[in-house]
Amino acid sequence: MKRTWGAIVAVGIALAVAAGPASAVVPAAPDRPLEGRLILLDPGHQLGNSNPRFAKQMAQTKFNGTIVKGCNTTGTATNAGFPEATFNWRVATRLKRLLENAGARVQMTRSTNSYDAWGPCVWNRAKQANRIGADVMINIHADGAPARDKGFFVMAPGLVKGWTEDVVKPGRRLANAMIAGMTAAGATPSNYVSGQLMISRDTTGLNFSNVPSVTVELGNMRNAVEARRMSSASGQRQYARWLLAGIERYFAKR
Ligand SMILES: [Zn+2]
Repeated sequence: MKRTWGAIVAVGIALAVAAGPASAVVPAAPDRPLEGRLILLDPGHQLGNSNPRFAKQMAQTKFNGTIVKGCNTTGTATNAGFPEATFNWRVATRLKRLLENAGARVQMTRSTNSYDAWGPCVWNRAKQANRIGADVMINIHADGAPARDKGFFVMAPGLVKGWTEDVVKPGRRLANAMIAGMTAAGATPSNYVSGQLMISRDTTGLNFSNVPSVTVELGNMRNAVEARRMSSASGQRQYARWLLAGIERYFAKR
């Protein structure tokens, strides 16, 4: 029996080798489920966006298909002053390593988190996704809501004629996978956004993107419990693992 089985395997391998480069999509190994995927991570904001030196750069505006909006913003912070830009940055760098361990190629929209740096503008972050042909773009943020609000939610692009027709459906699919994957992994679902899903027609980054893109608001920096988690290294790792679970859920279905 063993011998026969071996022969079948040998034939199978021979056929696979013969198939050669024609089979472009190689099934991912179980320990590298994201093999061959290109992911753009966008750690929202930049520390220097609040630096008066860069007021002119921040004042740039563009029409996003719905309204005219600015280059970028400072983001929120915890009551103790821990900035969202730094939280987003730390989660993104940790997530990058996790994704790479799972086989993905990862690029980031910014290479520093510094008071001496600004932007890039949100439209240029989205254009990077288009230029590199990312499979998905994940925009990492945290909210600044009333203190009783908590939990994560996901923003996906709404329909804007001439702008988002190409990404509304895949964006919704990505958002649903993020919500399901993150919730299953233990992330706290938002208690103030119904179904953890918000459809936005006026988010510049989502409208400029031609690849499936979502913004994940990981939690509320003004909530005491979440502020503590966001400010610690172990908490930041936890957020990164939750995002990884969502991304893996999206690609597992494809
Ligand atoms: Zn933000």
